[in-house]
Amino acid sequence: MSRNHEECLALLEQIRWGGKPKCPYCGSTKATAYKSERRFHCNECFTSYSVTVGTLFHKTYIELQKWFIAIRLVLNSAGGISVRQLAKEIGVNKNTAFYMIERIRRAMAEEPELLQKVMQMSEHHS
Ligand SMILES: [Zn+2]
Repeated sequence: MSRNHEECLALLEQIRWGGKPKCPYCGSTKATAYKSERRFHCNECFTSYSVTVGTLFHKTYIELQKWFIAIRLVLNSAGGISVRQLAKEIGVNKNTAFYMIERIRRAMAEEPELLQKVMQMSEHHS
């Protein structure tokens, strides 16, 4: 767990956008970065967004580094990791671990490329 949330967001931005922000609502790449946090303001549709919009990470309070580890554990364990195991590994309660496993399984069908890339890139760094 060496990465902080900010680094994880930067990594996701690389994975999803190749570093150039793209509005998840209108597809525009005309964006202004906020100074205080890693969010962007779309200059075409005037919404604000971060790289997690439209992914399994959206609207969760769970730290991204925990998600990244969980993805690796879920995808790498042949028999599937148990809720109790995951909770212990990343230090969350069982309800959270249950939610994460369910969400990652759904993402395996809905956004498999994202999961693969997260797994590859986070392996190199941790
Ligand atoms: Zn937009």
